[in-house]
Amino acid sequence: MKIKRALFTLFVSSSLFACGASTANNYNANQRSANQSLNSADASALTFMREEEKIARDVYISLYQRWGNNVFNKISSSEQRHMDALARQLQSNNLPDPVVNNSVGIFTNTKLAGLYQNLLYKGQRSEKEALHVAAYIEELDIQDLQKAITKSRNSALNATYERLMRGSRNHLRAFVRQIENQGITYQAQLMSQSEVNSIVNSARERGNRGQRGNRGQGRGMGMGHGGRGNGMGRGNRAW
Ligand code: ZN
Ligand code: ZN
Repeated sequence: MKIKRALFTLFVSSSLFACGASTANNYNANQRSANQSLNSADASALTFMREEEKIARDVYISLYQRWGNNVFNKISSSEQRHMDALARQLQSNNLPDPVVNNSVGIFTNTKLAGLYQNLLYKGQRSEKEALHVAAYIEELDIQDLQKAITKSRNSALNATYERLMRGSRNHLRAFVRQIENQGITYQAQLMSQSEVNSIVNSARERGNRGQRGNRGQGRGMGMGHGGRGNGMGRGNRAW
């Protein structure tokens, strides 16, 4: 079991972040316009993250269908908001959306399509495995968002990434709590154990629309979805 997990982690994490680049560069080549303010590295990262959020949403939708655990249902709607936030960033930078088909399990980036299949396969085996898959996705998301923030100097983009990362930390807390409620000690899968511990042992972070960096471009980010049911707490949406 341990070896299997290690191999799985190796497979998935080895070149994941980099694999968005070539696809996005192709998109990007034809898309430079007067309004586009993102450099190609930012455009690649944004394009990649848009589909990585879709992996999270699609895996949780599928795992909810398989296991009926409401944590997957609640967090999949949060992932939809993450996807929406990145779609707005693509749009405002005149970049094409890699999500050309919004159906569950369809991806433009073939490596992400493979990752989706791999995660889903693993998550079908048991609910315990499913929760570990979910925690893995959140660790991956946090790491990739952090990399994107480190590389970018675009403040609007970074503010969005920060919000998504805060949501991801809350998601990680929720999944790890469920794992530990089963009497299992959660072992970090991608991040260091101390990083994971410091997240899961700290309080859930609240969404705050007036937060630093979000003012001005934050309108509509989370406010335009009043009709969508959400179980994440009104007014303090945790992303
Ligand atoms: Zn997310
Ligand atoms: Zn998440």
